[in-house]
Amino acid sequence: MELITGQDVSKVYHNGGVPIEALKGVSFSIEKEAFVSVVGPSGSGKTTLLNLIGCLDKPSGGRLLVAGTDVAGLGRTDAAIFRGSHIGFIFQSFNLIPVLTAYENVEYPLIMVQNVPAAQRRRQVQDLIAAVGMSDQQTKRPDQLSGGQKQRVAIARALVTHPQLVLADEPTANLDHDTAMGIIRLMKGIRKELQTTFVFSTHDVRIIDEAEGIYRIEDGLLKESHNQGGGHDHD
Ligand code: ADP
Ligand code: MG
Repeated sequence: MELITGQDVSKVYHNGGVPIEALKGVSFSIEKEAFVSVVGPSGSGKTTLLNLIGCLDKPSGGRLLVAGTDVAGLGRTDAAIFRGSHIGFIFQSFNLIPVLTAYENVEYPLIMVQNVPAAQRRRQVQDLIAAVGMSDQQTKRPDQLSGGQKQRVAIARALVTHPQLVLADEPTANLDHDTAMGIIRLMKGIRKELQTTFVFSTHDVRIIDEAEGIYRIEDGLLKESHNQGGGHDHD
């Protein structure tokens, strides 16, 4: 079943000067529980596409359905509610809150977005911290953690609300190759366990082998999309 469908989706940025056509009409669909990558060089439109899917911005044209909702039609408040209940985000620069411990960073969405009771909250946070292998480090603050450890915490934070969809914009760009592979495989393993759909962008050709589907964009156009049916399983 499809979780995301885009038909002729376009995005034009107007910043006073010449309008910039970041997406020039892309059509695609992404299945539930997919583990797919948006691949393309810097400036090709990857972040723009993920921001539209994540309801952080609106398409200029076309039609975009996420989990059955026409996201172009959502107002600011409804978009925020939709994000809070359906989507987890992982960023290139981790975006952890520096004054909070790893545990508190993971707990944060449950307090701010979902208002989950304390006992249930503790269970959910501890489960996710264990799933990303960070139980021993949970009282540390981000500045006491390595890049790979920070991204593990960020993955737990993205998943703690049990979203249907996780969007990760170049999640491995600030990591060395081995750590990057570890992070991608961790996301893949969790996807299987929690039945979450993962869409991640990258321009690192070395990690795209792990994806089960590839959407290659160049200059705002979808150049290629294919499923490699299962990808490689390493463990
Ligand atoms: P990528 O993530 O693949 O590097 P982006 O989606 O960030 O690509 O950018 C696609 C194009 O849109 C680029 O030409 C970029 O400069 C432009 N762009 C992105 N965001 C904005 C913005 N907020 N305002 C104006 N132009 C933007
Ligand atoms: Mg980008």
